[in-house]
Amino acid sequence: MTKPPLTLHLAAPRGFCAGVDRAIKIVEMALEKWGPPVYVRHEIVHNKFVVDGLREKGAIFVEKLDECPADRPVIFSAHGVPKAVPQEAQRREMVYVDATCPLVSKVHLEAQRHHENGKQMVMIGHKGHPETVGTMGQLPEGEVLLVETAEDVAGLEVRDPEKLAYITQTTLSIDDTAEVVKALEARFPAIEGPHKEDICYATTNRQGAVKAVAPKVQALLVIGAPNSSNSKRLVEVGAAAGCEYSQLVQRAADIDWRAIEGCSAVGLTAGASAPDVLVEEVVQAFRDRFDLAVEPVVTATEKIEFRLPRIVREPA
Ligand code: SF4
Repeated sequence: MTKPPLTLHLAAPRGFCAGVDRAIKIVEMALEKWGPPVYVRHEIVHNKFVVDGLREKGAIFVEKLDECPADRPVIFSAHGVPKAVPQEAQRREMVYVDATCPLVSKVHLEAQRHHENGKQMVMIGHKGHPETVGTMGQLPEGEVLLVETAEDVAGLEVRDPEKLAYITQTTLSIDDTAEVVKALEARFPAIEGPHKEDICYATTNRQGAVKAVAPKVQALLVIGAPNSSNSKRLVEVGAAAGCEYSQLVQRAADIDWRAIEGCSAVGLTAGASAPDVLVEEVVQAFRDRFDLAVEPVVTATEKIEFRLPRIVREPA
């Protein structure tokens, strides 16, 4: 039987970012250094495939520090943690490794600096997301107010409109965030913003690639987990850029092939916490069903690498 022709437009950059790569390496090196089990507070990165693989090697994932015994090492996830978490680990004299992405730590430092300068913070982010919880938890309660949308800005009750600054979650939609910033600046003209975007290079580049792919295709698939903020934003960016069928899938088995029927061009990308092996799996699934041509759509190249913490580099 002849297969129907289809072009798969492969967005680049896609998949693992430097922060995710570093966080996974930290868990692997900790397992090598201390042997299993090593505890990890929260999913190290939001991807079931990655988490299951590390679990098989001896990592135990927990949500709270008090679920970890004091005599085993614990790793904090790439999303960052409230200040109280390492403080509690110190109090319990635990060995801990902070796998917070350096670009998230940069936002923590920014918040701290504004606080020391007497400013109250507005954080643009998603309520309950671990990164938002971690960043807000860098300062005392009430010092960071959360807004999710431009509409939320009208309801803000601030201490002093002249002493305000804003920060953002690193994985937001660039265009939606610009709307929120516009609303903040309109209501609080004295508000101070970051010197440079808090939305990280990986989020920016992956959204840029999706914007380039979306007009070429009838359907876009984003490989990522349902709790991955940057992956969900890629789905939204694809839809906003005109792709009628923009869908998150965890792996090939999730693809609704009926939705792809009749398409001659499909876009494919992967969130920053989705490994390349899942992209290969999806490409193979397309190859099995179509006479496939793969067209890379490259909008940026990435060379960023983050240094690993000394504690995992040193011998035990
Ligand atoms: Fe760091 Fe950005 Fe990757 Fe998050 S998405 S881990 S902030 S590089």
